[in-house]
Amino acid sequence: MAITRFAPSPTGYLHIGGLRTALYSYLWAKKTNGEFKLRIEDTDMARNSEDAVKAILEAFEWVGMPSDCAIEYQSKRIDIYKVYIDKLLENGNAYKCYMSKEELQALRDKQEANKETPRYNGTWRPERDKVLPEIPADIEPVIRIKAPISGTIEFADGVKGAMKFDANQVDDFVIARGSGIPTYNFVVAIDDHLMGITDVIRGDDHLSNTPKQIVVYNALGFDVPKFYHIPMINNPQGKKLSKRDGAMDVMEYKRLGYLPEALLNFLVRLGWSNGDQEIFSIEEMLELFDPNNINKSASAYNSEKLNWLNSHYIKNVSNERLSKELEFFDFHLVGHDKKEMILDLCKERANTIVELKESIEAILNLPTEYETAGVNKFIKENTMGMLKQYCELLRVNEKDLHIAPDIEAVTKPFISENGLKFPELFQPIRISLTGATQAPSVYDIIAILGLEETIKRIDTAIEINFGR
Ligand code: GLU
Repeated sequence: MAITRFAPSPTGYLHIGGLRTALYSYLWAKKTNGEFKLRIEDTDMARNSEDAVKAILEAFEWVGMPSDCAIEYQSKRIDIYKVYIDKLLENGNAYKCYMSKEELQALRDKQEANKETPRYNGTWRPERDKVLPEIPADIEPVIRIKAPISGTIEFADGVKGAMKFDANQVDDFVIARGSGIPTYNFVVAIDDHLMGITDVIRGDDHLSNTPKQIVVYNALGFDVPKFYHIPMINNPQGKKLSKRDGAMDVMEYKRLGYLPEALLNFLVRLGWSNGDQEIFSIEEMLELFDPNNINKSASAYNSEKLNWLNSHYIKNVSNERLSKELEFFDFHLVGHDKKEMILDLCKERANTIVELKESIEAILNLPTEYETAGVNKFIKENTMGMLKQYCELLRVNEKDLHIAPDIEAVTKPFISENGLKFPELFQPIRISLTGATQAPSVYDIIAILGLEETIKRIDTAIEINFGR
């Protein structure tokens, strides 16, 4: 049973890299009958915003991955962290350091000049028989943790394999500032322990924090969780994903007309696979996902794949669901007597809900203009007569023309009897009905519009000579 968490810092919206980490954490928890927990890491008051918290929670609601516990906010847990700082001071695993900013800077400058990695030099670290400097009066001490001086810090990463850091890569880092506010790596370790987290799945940009967090676990005698550090999502050129590539607010995907199941399906495959399977329902993800199979190398964002997945889900969700999704774009089909027919037709060609809306509008709305290139190409001298004749045919058969196959049944003989080629009839009709030559099947459009509206639109086009 895995207890996992997602721990965003609310410095901005939730982006897709974060959502993928959350998805992996969510799937692993649910697959093992464990729990998925959300924690907001909002101790950096200067960089956090309430709006960002709201945006992150909104995104989680949209994708349907609720936290199994009340959401924890680090800003409300400062007293808890103090208890553990005191514990460490008491058990001798942490100490007060009175080094001034100037002294620290001088130390750093010297180390850099000697081409050494800047690290604390242990001036205030208590050791047996060591005499510490005299405590200066004017300095609020920071609290430093006693990190091991020699040896290695090791852990088995579920993605990267055996990880080994020389202890000298971790110095006695600060766990509480002079103001008493605890630092990032300290609170993450405390929270993960107190929240019972067994499996930490996070971006590999956090890999260098892990040895520090292990120092905290060890100093407090806590069990170290299992870590999975997942490689980044890059753009197709292998560079860091930029906004233009898709590194945007998860809610922007909603605004662009993506369905959450398509986005999650897209994300689960960015860094994990099951043979060459591309489509995964949440149920299948839950059955098959295993963080131990996460790819070791970075993945590449592919917007065509996302569109393809989205069109798959648009085709396969219910029309009722599509109507709901369209309402988000202020488009209401409620009460339209051909609603099912319209959706069945238009969902076949839409990559996004926005495209779905546009293609429905292209049929339902009166054309405001006629595509010039199409008019020049398809509206010939004999077109008007042919269209009038066709409308006549529709009228005569009015009672029997309800669905696309009925219309096809009268149209096909009309085409052959008049020695026409299909586009000679269909393109002028498409232009009359929708203004454009790119539109779904004429039979479907006529069935949706109904004969009255169809004839009216054809008459209008003829009357104004297709706007010429
Ligand atoms: N708050 C960190 C971030 O937003 C995540 C910390 C973690 O997962 O350990 O990147």
